[in-house]
Amino acid sequence: MSINELPRWDLTHLFNGIEDPKLTTVVGNIVPSAKAFAERWRGRVAEIDAGGLLSMLSDYERSFAEPTAAYAFAHLGYAADSTDNSFVSLLSKIRELFNEAHRLTLFFTLELDSIDDERYAALSEDSTLKAYAHYLRQLRKQKDRRLTESEESILALKTLPGSTAFVQLYSRLTSSFRFPSPVDGEDDKYLTNAEILALLKHPDRETRRRAIENFSKVYEDQKLTISTIWNAIALDHRQNIGLRGYSSVIEPVNEGNELSDKAVSTVMEVTRQHYHLARRYYKWKAGALGVEKLWSSDLSAPLPGASDEKISYEKAREWVIDSFNDFHPRFGEIAKGFFDENRIDTPPVPGKSGGAFCMGAAPHLPPYVLINFTGKLRDATTLAHELGHGIHFTLAAKQPYLEYSPVLPLAETASVFGELLMTKKLLELEKEPEKRKHLIAERVEDIIATTFRQTMYTYFELEAHAKTAESTVEPEMFCDIWNSKLNNLYGETVETLDGSKWAWSAIPHFIHTRFYCYAYTFGELLVLALYRRYQEEGAAFAPKLISLLEAGGSLEPQALVANLDYDLEDSEFWRGGYRVLEELLEELGA
Ligand SMILES: [Zn+2]
Repeated sequence: MSINELPRWDLTHLFNGIEDPKLTTVVGNIVPSAKAFAERWRGRVAEIDAGGLLSMLSDYERSFAEPTAAYAFAHLGYAADSTDNSFVSLLSKIRELFNEAHRLTLFFTLELDSIDDERYAALSEDSTLKAYAHYLRQLRKQKDRRLTESEESILALKTLPGSTAFVQLYSRLTSSFRFPSPVDGEDDKYLTNAEILALLKHPDRETRRRAIENFSKVYEDQKLTISTIWNAIALDHRQNIGLRGYSSVIEPVNEGNELSDKAVSTVMEVTRQHYHLARRYYKWKAGALGVEKLWSSDLSAPLPGASDEKISYEKAREWVIDSFNDFHPRFGEIAKGFFDENRIDTPPVPGKSGGAFCMGAAPHLPPYVLINFTGKLRDATTLAHELGHGIHFTLAAKQPYLEYSPVLPLAETASVFGELLMTKKLLELEKEPEKRKHLIAERVEDIIATTFRQTMYTYFELEAHAKTAESTVEPEMFCDIWNSKLNNLYGETVETLDGSKWAWSAIPHFIHTRFYCYAYTFGELLVLALYRRYQEEGAAFAPKLISLLEAGGSLEPQALVANLDYDLEDSEFWRGGYRVLEELLEELGA
């Protein structure tokens, strides 16, 4: 199948095209239906009973669920072809209308906030409102952290020239960076961030080393600016912690992720205790690359003899469906539906958005997948990943709109699980030892990057925040903290190049969304731990995973896995995840 024959998606499940009169009607209704909702309910919420609250929430969902189809249509149309101006303008028009609709309906959460605790508790525990219990619970938690209306509005105002300005400064500064090319014969060429980082996979070792050096030098040159931003952002965060009564710098993030502090610290601690597995892998990798010791620029180096064998799209489709079917027929059937109903956009064509995603906008809408299939083996794994999301969205369609989307740490559960099923399938099919090694090594490197590495980031972040509370942290002090955390992770197995100590200044999460990184570890290790249970329990496990996915966002993660008799605060559960990694390392001979 050539690129031109690869299937495009069929958006007529949503609308019959940009000229569809139904689309025009739906878009035209966004604001009027929000207005109608406001007219029906404004001023009534404070006195509402359980039955009334149920009708109001369903009414709210109706007024947003229908236009969501238009939003999905515009978003997908734009992703498939960003050069088509009609989608660009439709998308921005819908965004504007949605903003207006949200503004018109803000009153109902404010009115719910005005209900006193006792009556609110009675309402949210009422069996009539069972489907929204989690939503109501979380809403009250947010309310408890809010200051008075006038305080909030002053804070919002002062955030613009405060933390928002610093975040903007960081983004604008770092996206203006250009790096001298480390490739031989490209002396005058300058590269973007993504281009130079891609060279860490270059087969030549010296090129990789120069890539790290050239990259770091540009960041080092801006050390005063970046460390000043870091200090200011940390101060802002600390002030918020104090104003809203949190007990630690990480607590607001845990609360947003609906996780207990204990569950998060358990994951981090268990991960730290398994750092030796990363060292074990990198020792093996040094051997495979034929060097005595890895440099910090070698961690993503390609293994020798990596094949560039192409696979067909038909093969990728067959593998995904088979591997999902082997797990549970429901998985296979949902995945097959995406192919049969043409809900996957496949070819890499000009104007199409890069990478891959799955969009599940609302429970009543069919989810769609976008990939850029080039015939690499990796593309088959990507397809499995995105269809894993597709399965999650399809199963969660049982939930109401407000309880549809899982919280961040659960968002990758089915996708990463799908990748593991695919790896398992590929290993079953592949008999050649060298190729098996490449498959396993790729998976192991993914696991290391999302578990150990992200946990190391979080330990760095915790210590850096603590230090900024004592005094201004100078650039070199950030480097010292970074190197000590890096050393905890890699020990003697990796030689840290001098430039690597500036890596902290290149991680945007620290600036944009503090303590975001542990969610990667949490998500990945949760899947590995669940996969371990699958290995242990066999076929009995599949219905459990299905019920977890069906819950969508309707339960806190802790309660969700408690339903399966697992416990997120129990380190044994998480250790099971690392046993999966250990087995991969054993098979590798590491
Ligand atoms: Zn994903």
